[in-house]
Amino acid sequence: MSDIATVLRDLGLKEINPGACTGRWIEPTEHKVLASVNPATGETIASVIQADKAAYEKVVAIAHETFPAWRMMPAPQRGEIVRQLGEALREKKDALGRLVALEMGKIYSEGLGEVQEMIDMCDFAVGMSRQLYGPNMTSERPRHRMYEQWHPLGVVGIISAFNFPVAVWAWNAALAAICGDTMIWKPSSSTPLTAVAVQNICNDVMDRNGISGVFNLVIGPGRTVGETMLNDKRVPLVSFTGSTNMGRHVAETTARRFGRSILELGGNNAIIVEPDAKLDLALRAILFAAVGTAGQRCTSLRRLFLHTDVAEGLLAKLTKAYGSITIGDPLEDGILMGPLVNQAAVEAHFAALDKVKEQGGEILVGGGPVDRPGFFVEPTIVKAHPGMEITRDETFAPILYVFEYSTFDEAMALHNSVDQGLSSAVFTSSMYSAERFLSHEGSDCGIANVNIGTSGAEIGGAFGGEKETGGGREAGSDAWKAYMRRQTCTINWSTELPLAQGVSFDVDE
Ligand code: NAD
Repeated sequence: MSDIATVLRDLGLKEINPGACTGRWIEPTEHKVLASVNPATGETIASVIQADKAAYEKVVAIAHETFPAWRMMPAPQRGEIVRQLGEALREKKDALGRLVALEMGKIYSEGLGEVQEMIDMCDFAVGMSRQLYGPNMTSERPRHRMYEQWHPLGVVGIISAFNFPVAVWAWNAALAAICGDTMIWKPSSSTPLTAVAVQNICNDVMDRNGISGVFNLVIGPGRTVGETMLNDKRVPLVSFTGSTNMGRHVAETTARRFGRSILELGGNNAIIVEPDAKLDLALRAILFAAVGTAGQRCTSLRRLFLHTDVAEGLLAKLTKAYGSITIGDPLEDGILMGPLVNQAAVEAHFAALDKVKEQGGEILVGGGPVDRPGFFVEPTIVKAHPGMEITRDETFAPILYVFEYSTFDEAMALHNSVDQGLSSAVFTSSMYSAERFLSHEGSDCGIANVNIGTSGAEIGGAFGGEKETGGGREAGSDAWKAYMRRQTCTINWSTELPLAQGVSFDVDE
């Protein structure tokens, strides 16, 4: 049996899989087949039958019907089910990590890391299921108690991007589940098989607990299935991870019907390297952040600001290190960079490099195609200047723009001058520079690191970014609050009816 066949079998996948599920797989009436393509070869791994309108309707109806009972289950019991989900993911970690590498193209260790992130999210959510509390306030009125509590929201729509095909689902799903919401997942059409595999794992866990309709799936085109979800009043929250352009549309469409959205959109992440930085640390961090996942992380390093005192030396080392990046099959030992997701991504990479040349940038390393099947490009370093418009865009490919600067103020201004605000870092040994970077006048991003690269966040913190990155937060800290509705309650246990603000409204009886 081939490697691929083994992975498919271990995850309960067939050659052709249904693409809609409410705990029970739905056989669609139309047969619009979506091929899952291995970006390292361009070959089809297996296929999924896309959900049609009838399948979507069935899924949303079941998610809705399941909600009233699910929300009344005590949160720690919901947490227990999420704990079992984490255990099931541990058992399937290797197979699912391999499938992520096969279908998305990230290297095997990053595929495993992504599944580990799902497991970590489950563990986190289990603990959180006993901590969904609000504060007590002191009332201004005698013998009154005032407090806040949180209620489940309803059916949560999860629309995810291709580049974290399973982890982003887990950021949302683990929290939504413990918060008492049911959910419908619409994954990227580039990564349908990993979604079917995750749904199979959920189904096994839920079957053992005699529950269905909490974790639901609809695989289908964004412009039909996704669009229907955005406009669907039965879905009070849409958590969207994807490009800024699409996120703008999601925000507008959901807001028009007073639905909520959590937006996790594009980044244009940067590192500043100060003259007092530990350069060996900076070098390793830059390399992983710029080349890891072939530059297809929302937190990938796109802009590098080097102080003039260190620019020449660090760039020489970086150039040398790029020369030893091994490119190839992401499942092969020793490979550090896999392919881009598809041909359109390859074309976007080269279109950006054409603009680099038009706008006066200099390609220092890479820039060429890679002569092998699949969607490979060379990781590229560009010597850039601040006037280059292309450096303001997020090109989802391994292109690193390098700038030189003389003062910290100059670096900080350039750093914050773009429309996106996801991840940022400074490398320095100076307390002054570190604190300044983290201060109100420092980085304007949702993630700000010192002596750590821009990518590879831990799930314990709230994850997300500002400006055109959308302002959403997912995963750790108090991100759970976005999946619930807040209620302020006041209880009068006196025999009087005092009004707030000292207002008097007495009538003669
Ligand atoms: P994309 O915007 O092309 O697609 C995202 C999702 O939107 C897919 O599931 C797609 O099918 C769906 N979609 C398409 N049309 C739709 C419509 N009309 N209505 C509803 N949904 C629709 O993004 P992508 O190429 O899959 O992912 C890459 C992008 O995602 C990058 O910009 C990256 O920075 C961003 N991203 C951000 C984060 C974050 O946390 N900030 C994480 C991962 C990826």
